[in-house]
Amino acid sequence: MKYRIGIPRAVMYYQFGTIWKSFFHTMDTEVIVSGETNKKILDEGATRVVDEACLPVKVYFGHAMQLAREEVDFLFIPRLVSIEKKAFICPKLMGLPDMLSAGKSSLPPLIKPTLNLVKSESRLEDFLQDIAKSLSFDKKKTRQAWHLAQGVYNKEMESKRRSFLENQIDCPGLTTIFLAAHPYLIHDRFLNLNIVDKLKKMGCRVILPEEIPPEVQNAELSCLRKPLFWSFGKMQLGSVRFIARQPGAKGIIILSSFGCGIDSFIDNMVVRYLKKMGVPYLNIILDEHSGAAGLDTRIEAFLDMLRWKESKDEDYVSTYGSYLGCDEGTARASGAGCSSTTLFQ
Ligand code: SF4
Repeated sequence: MKYRIGIPRAVMYYQFGTIWKSFFHTMDTEVIVSGETNKKILDEGATRVVDEACLPVKVYFGHAMQLAREEVDFLFIPRLVSIEKKAFICPKLMGLPDMLSAGKSSLPPLIKPTLNLVKSESRLEDFLQDIAKSLSFDKKKTRQAWHLAQGVYNKEMESKRRSFLENQIDCPGLTTIFLAAHPYLIHDRFLNLNIVDKLKKMGCRVILPEEIPPEVQNAELSCLRKPLFWSFGKMQLGSVRFIARQPGAKGIIILSSFGCGIDSFIDNMVVRYLKKMGVPYLNIILDEHSGAAGLDTRIEAFLDMLRWKESKDEDYVSTYGSYLGCDEGTARASGAGCSSTTLFQ
């Protein structure tokens, strides 16, 4: 029998959707991915989920509800505990299958295999066996289909990273901005109010964390006194530390969602590093009430500031903070840096 499997277009779909779709297609299964996020999906998710949920989890619930109306046989809701050795995924994502099962909504049966590679990558086998058992797939064919899908994903990621490494960070005529955020905030255009396209239209080259090779990110983190054990945190901090030292990168936009536990301290580490390096940044926190006009104004002001600073070769001294109360000459004489970061606190 050919199953119809529903996959919510939210959270980890934006990172691993290529693998999941390719895998199920090879297993001769019909895949239904929910549509792009919209207000109805967000509102529906927000009313079904616990109050403490962050924005992406609210959206995830909305997508699951949409798929329930598509008459799929199963929803694919993997329990992602760890996707690499010695690091974990956010607890809210680990709990997605439980939160959905405990909800009041009637949903199709869930396929909820557990992926936990924290001790060994060989535990992928358990994940595959869970899927095979739930859908009565042949175990050997399941394994082969997954490795095939993994190959497709690896090629996709390699091509993104190659194009980053082959191009100059500094593009003539464009302002290079690094967008530090989780993949699902970067690629969900409704949640991020279409920030990537906005920046491009405003004359920016946008670099994303996924373009920085993991080995480069990990090397940047090797100097930390204690290793970070959140995969998203490693990606965020490692890529920012690398980009902040590249002269071509003009500014960094940190995008996080209201209610994100991990970002509440990772963003702090990122900001402290950027201040130390004197790299301008803009910190944007999204929630379901975010408005496009407010975002546009903040981005325009940030870009104006970067361009003005560049064109005047200005050594900006903040009117806020340590030099408040002393005249500009005194501040400059004392060697104050161009920490325009203080403008964006
Ligand atoms: S990492 Fe943050 S934004 Fe992502 S699911 Fe967890 S709490 Fe939500």
